[in-house]
Amino acid sequence: MSMLKEISSQDAMYLEHEFGAHNYHPLPVVLQRGDGVYVWDVEGKKYYDFLSAYSSVNQGHCHPRIVNAMVEQAQTLTLTSRAFYNDRLGPYEQFVTNYFGFDKVLPMNTGAEAVETAIKITRRWAYQVKGIPENQAKIVVCENNFHGRTTTIISFSNDPVARENFGPYTNGFIKIPYDDTEALKHVLETHHDVAGFLVEPIQGEAGVYVPSEGYLKTAKALCESHNVLFVADEVQTGIARTGRLLATCGNCSCPNKNCSHTPEVKPDVLILGKALSGGVYPVSAVLANNDIMDVITPGSHGSTFGGNPIAAAVAVAALQVIQDEDLTENADRLGMLFRDRLNDYIQTSKIVKLVRGKGLLNAIVINDSEDSDTAWNICLKLRDNGLLAKPTHGNIIRFAPPLVMSEAQLLDCIDIITKTLKSFEI
Ligand SMILES: *Cc1c(COP(=O)(O)O)cnc(C)c1O
Repeated sequence: MSMLKEISSQDAMYLEHEFGAHNYHPLPVVLQRGDGVYVWDVEGKKYYDFLSAYSSVNQGHCHPRIVNAMVEQAQTLTLTSRAFYNDRLGPYEQFVTNYFGFDKVLPMNTGAEAVETAIKITRRWAYQVKGIPENQAKIVVCENNFHGRTTTIISFSNDPVARENFGPYTNGFIKIPYDDTEALKHVLETHHDVAGFLVEPIQGEAGVYVPSEGYLKTAKALCESHNVLFVADEVQTGIARTGRLLATCGNCSCPNKNCSHTPEVKPDVLILGKALSGGVYPVSAVLANNDIMDVITPGSHGSTFGGNPIAAAVAVAALQVIQDEDLTENADRLGMLFRDRLNDYIQTSKIVKLVRGKGLLNAIVINDSEDSDTAWNICLKLRDNGLLAKPTHGNIIRFAPPLVMSEAQLLDCIDIITKTLKSFEI
C-alpha cells in the first residue's frame, strides 16, 4: 500500500498549499479514485464529476480500453523522440486524419502547445503562401477568449487575472467582439495583412457562450472570401462534448451527426486536446490539409514528447471509444434533457437566471454579481450533496459530466442540482 492511500483530506490540502505554487484555487475536495462518471475522495465519499477535468474525461474516468492501451504501450516503448521513427505514430496519424477528415496532423501534448503550433502555422502560411510582407501578419481573435496560458496566448487574452505583470506581450493580434460577424467583416475589409481568425466554436472558459445560429458559417465564409485561415480551437468543444463530433459540425447542414467533414464550416486549421486522450495522458493535435501544413519543415517546430508511442496508442483508443459507445448521440440527447429540466426549474427560480449550452457542455448563470460568493457556495453545497462542479467568472457554474453518463444517472444529478439550488432560493 502506498503512503498516499492513508492521507486525510486536511493533510493533502495542507501539503498542496504549503509546497505547491498557488496558481489554482481548488474546491476543497481531495480525490483519490475515479470510475466512469464517478470520483471518490480520500474518505471514501462518492461524487458525480460534473467538470470532467474541463471536458478532458469525456470517455469517463479510467476507461478500461484507454487505460489498457496506455499500460500495454508503457510496457513496450514509451518515448523515442522524433529523432527516430516509432511504430505507433504513423498508424495514429493515418487514423486521426481519416477520423476528422484532414490531410495531415501535427502532434503535440497540451492544448496551449497546440494553439501555439496553430499560430506558427498560420503565420508561416501568411508569409509563404498568401504573400504578406514579413513580420506584418495579424491574427484576429475574440474578446473573452481562452486559448491557454503561454506568454503569447495571454498576450491576446483580455482577462486581467491571466495577464497582469506578465508583459511585455506578443504583437500581431487584433481583438474583436465574439459572435459579431459585422466586426469580423469590418476588420477583414480594412486590413490586408490578416493571416487567420482564431475562434472557439463555443466560448467555454468565458462561461459557455454559445454564438448565434449561423455565426460560424458566416465567419468561415468571410474568411474564405478574404483568403484568411479559419482556425478553430476545439480543445474544449471537440470530441463529442457538444453532441457533435466537433462543435463546428453542429453548424453545418449535413444530416449526419457524426460527420467528420463539415463542409460549410470545416476549419482550415483544427486544434484538439483534452478528450483526445480521454484524460489519461496529455495529447494534443493540430490538423490541416497539405496546402497549409506543408509550410512546416524539418527543424521549424517540434516537441520531445509530441507524437510519442504512448500518446499515439492512447489517442487511437480514446477516439475508438467515442465511436463505439455512441458518445456523440448520448451527449446530444442527454444535453437536451438537461436543459429542458433546468429550464423547467428556472421558470420559478430567483437564484438562477438561465441555462445555456450544447450537448453536455452547459452552464447556469446565477442571479448575483460576478464578485459575489453565491456560485462558490452553491458548488460547496453541491459537493456536500455528492456532485462536483466549479464556478467560472464568479457567477457562472459550468456543468460538463463525462459523456458515458446514463439517463438514470443524469436524472439523479438533475435532482441533486435542483434540490441544492432550492436551498438557496430566498
Ligand atoms: C483548456 C483549453 C486550452 C488549453 O489547454 P491546456 O491543455 O490547458 O494547455 C486551449 N483552448 C481551449 C478552448 C481550452 O478549453
